[in-house]
Amino acid sequence: MMKPCPYGSHRVLAPKGALPQPAQKLDTAMPLQANEMLISVDTLNVDSASFTQIKEACQGDKEAMKAMILGIVKERGKLQNPVTGSGGMLLGRVKEVGADFPGQVKPGTPIATLVSLSLTPLVILHIKDIHLESDQVDIEGEAILFETGIYAKLPDDLDHRLALSALDVAGAPAQTARLLKPGDSVVILGAEGKSGVLCATQARMSVGDAGRVIGICHSPSQTEELRALKVCDAILMADARDPLSVYQQVVEANNGRKVDVSINVVNVQNTEMAAILPVRDGGTVYFFSMATSFSKAALGAEGVASNATMIIGNGYTPGHGDFTLDLLRSRKDLQELFMKRYGGDV
Ligand code: NAP
Repeated sequence: MMKPCPYGSHRVLAPKGALPQPAQKLDTAMPLQANEMLISVDTLNVDSASFTQIKEACQGDKEAMKAMILGIVKERGKLQNPVTGSGGMLLGRVKEVGADFPGQVKPGTPIATLVSLSLTPLVILHIKDIHLESDQVDIEGEAILFETGIYAKLPDDLDHRLALSALDVAGAPAQTARLLKPGDSVVILGAEGKSGVLCATQARMSVGDAGRVIGICHSPSQTEELRALKVCDAILMADARDPLSVYQQVVEANNGRKVDVSINVVNVQNTEMAAILPVRDGGTVYFFSMATSFSKAALGAEGVASNATMIIGNGYTPGHGDFTLDLLRSRKDLQELFMKRYGGDV
């Protein structure tokens, strides 16, 4: 008998030889393998780019959204949005652990997966509710984690929905801490969003008083919540699909100079150039947004003779889960903002 693949390719139905993430369809009927964990799922935290696409396609109608989500999962054996390609992550309880699954975790333990729903075998029996403001979907269902799939045990001291929201974007603030040093100037596109407020708070801590943190915002109510955190030197209302306007406003807010680093945490398409244009020669552009197009970024940068280093926002940075939960613990006001937006009993 063949040993199950550590990356989960044994569950790929099509195309042959693919890994689970790019696969078209996963097998959810196969019995639990020795290197897998079975999870009883309570809540899906849908990736913002995916949730926004589904919400817009269904004009915000919850019943239509339920049908669309059920359709995707039935068709693909995973919640991978066919338009954005992205997934999200989930919150649930360990139901069964295969004999060869690494580490020690007991059935009943509440966990959040830290690998994308775009590669996680999933069965939805029933959608209980959709939370339009937090991109969360309460379900009754089951999911499989492969032996290489990372997860976080949910902490006792934080609300579980709040923790799920933060863990969904945990790679962004952790990577922000790696990219910035004292004295740097940084612009964050989508600074009032979920990853935006985490990145802006971390950026302030990393660049210090000598640095400059500029937030590009879009949503007026969430912008006021960001302003109250007092982590930005300048907050600009702008459309990240309008690169020239963003460029002019950022340079003006940075005392006539381009910035060292830009961080794109917007959830819509066509924002690549607004992240590239304001960055100085030799600076860094960090694309965390799942709506980023590689060809638009690469060809666009070439077209304006930018030699900035461009980083694809890998959702994984070593220790990113604990890092982000600790960031929330370190700022009561940030934790309260998250609780207000995303918190509540599961
Ligand atoms: P979020 O909370 O929805 O924040 C996105 C923000 O972008 C919102 O405040 C939104 O404002 C703003 N925005 C939308 N259109 C804009 C525009 N034209 N100009 C300027 N701002 C605009 O999303 P999130 O959960 O932080 O996620 C941010 C991005 O990271 C998404 O693309 C998501 O898919 C991606 N992501 C990546 C990974 C990874 O592994 N790389 C993991 C998780 C998430 P409005 O509310 O007004 O629309």
